[in-house]
Amino acid sequence: MLHIYCPYCGENRDQDEFKAKGEAHISRPLDPMGCTDQQWGDYMFFRKNPRGVHHEMWYHVAGCRKFFNMTRDTVTYRIYETYKMGEQPSVTAESLAGGQS
Ligand SMILES: [Zn+2]
Repeated sequence: MLHIYCPYCGENRDQDEFKAKGEAHISRPLDPMGCTDQQWGDYMFFRKNPRGVHHEMWYHVAGCRKFFNMTRDTVTYRIYETYKMGEQPSVTAESLAGGQS
């Protein structure tokens, strides 16, 4: 079981209190009516599924009921960080490849 730090509650809590909501940092197209079917379909349905470092959105359903983002390794399940919505991750696959942790 994962122990997840909620950046809003400020506590580590059991994974059972949270719900994973998929890839983080998905931006809605600014002009949906100007999108092609291909662009709209990509936005609606296609997500990355990387092996390794991934940024995910999570929901603290049994706690503060707020959404936040997490940087997690999909192979090792290591959680590098959690951060509030609107913030940018400090850990990325590129920063880890450069030797930072
Ligand atoms: Zn919370």
